[in-house]
Amino acid sequence: MTGGTRPPAEPSAAGGMMRQMNNQIYPAAAGGASHPDAVQMPGAAASSPAGLPGPAHVLDPSAGLEEWLAARGQPAWRAKAIRRWLFAGRAATFADMTDLPKELRTALEERFLIFSTRIARHVHAEDGTEKLLLELADGQRIECVLLREHAREVSDAAGGGRLTVCISSQVGCGMGCVFCASGLDGVIRNLTTGEILEQLLRLQKLLPAEERLSHIVVMGMGEPLANLDRLMPALATAQHADGLGISQRRITISTVGLPKAIDRLTAENPGYHLAVSLHAAEDALRTRLVPVNKAIGLAEVMAAADRYWEASGRRLTFEYVLLGGVNDAPEDAARLVRLLGRRAALVNVIPYNAVAGLPWREPSKAAQARFLDVLRAAGVNVQVRRRKGARIDAACGQLRRLESASAGPAIPATSPASPGGTRPAE
Ligand code: SAH
Repeated sequence: MTGGTRPPAEPSAAGGMMRQMNNQIYPAAAGGASHPDAVQMPGAAASSPAGLPGPAHVLDPSAGLEEWLAARGQPAWRAKAIRRWLFAGRAATFADMTDLPKELRTALEERFLIFSTRIARHVHAEDGTEKLLLELADGQRIECVLLREHAREVSDAAGGGRLTVCISSQVGCGMGCVFCASGLDGVIRNLTTGEILEQLLRLQKLLPAEERLSHIVVMGMGEPLANLDRLMPALATAQHADGLGISQRRITISTVGLPKAIDRLTAENPGYHLAVSLHAAEDALRTRLVPVNKAIGLAEVMAAADRYWEASGRRLTFEYVLLGGVNDAPEDAARLVRLLGRRAALVNVIPYNAVAGLPWREPSKAAQARFLDVLRAAGVNVQVRRRKGARIDAACGQLRRLESASAGPAIPATSPASPGGTRPAE
């Protein structure tokens, strides 16, 4: 195996970037106008992105690797071997898979893709956080992040630190949360399973050979529960021994709270760590911040979260982005305490990372302290999201927006941190 071989250098797209933000297909949900809980949007075909012609990603189920191998008289274990080359061997090309017959490697090269994306930008932060802006085959852009958490930062780690990746599930986002950069232009399309997995392959290649990814958080761009059909096979591959071998309990799915989709996850696969983005503990304010709440309501969100908890037995996380002067008063905290009641939940408080052009601001230190005091005094388990990747626009959708605006007036760099709640339960 060629563990740790680095991929060939990618040409930088800086300077040659095209604006892609106008290809909007689905408008952002505003005031409940579009239906939030339809579970599956009519996204791109699962094979090639946006139904583009051309080779499919080898890891996308719709590419039919197993069937293709069988039709060529190849044993079934070849598919396993290919996956091992990709994940454990970090192969960049089929030619790297030196124990496969040469003709097979050539045929694979012609039929399948390992990398359908191009690294448009790669940014490093001083704390070790790295972020990739990936350009997809259809020119759309998504972000994914590698977070290095040292043992001293991870209170519940049994030994070393964590190597967590934060991945996107859609291009853009249709949930319309008013403070989030990812959803400002609505959702453009679902990512394919191959595109979701490719983020893992790309991020894994940033690590030295001896290091392995340990955790996955689906907290990048998009609403993961609106793309479950493509996300589930990707996460299954990630867990597999031939994949990254990351156990389910080390995978966190963050959702805006779509009850039907949460119920589907409860029925099909309740082993993931679920994080539900609340941001407010009463409907009027939540609807203002999270427009899809209008058609759903907090009671339904909490009931679906409870059903998930009953099935999984795993503590839920509720995310709460603190927006200065909006939802950060002690009364807001008291309402949150009442909403949570006796639930054994973890509240992940995320001080807002200002997004250029949006009117929301970070909470003051004093307001943060007061908010946390109320929660802690009531015995609520609280965690404040640690700042990671400052100065590399690591909060969802920020880098992509910055890049897409490069043709227009310069947007000043904000001081973002990591995507919300990068701390899964394990
Ligand atoms: N659609 C999913 C995943 C979104 S990203 C969800 O709603 O949970 C993960 C978290 O980051 C969400 O809680 C989201 O509200 C939060 N977030 C988005 N933009 C942010 C910002 N600028 N500052 C802080 N947190 C942000």
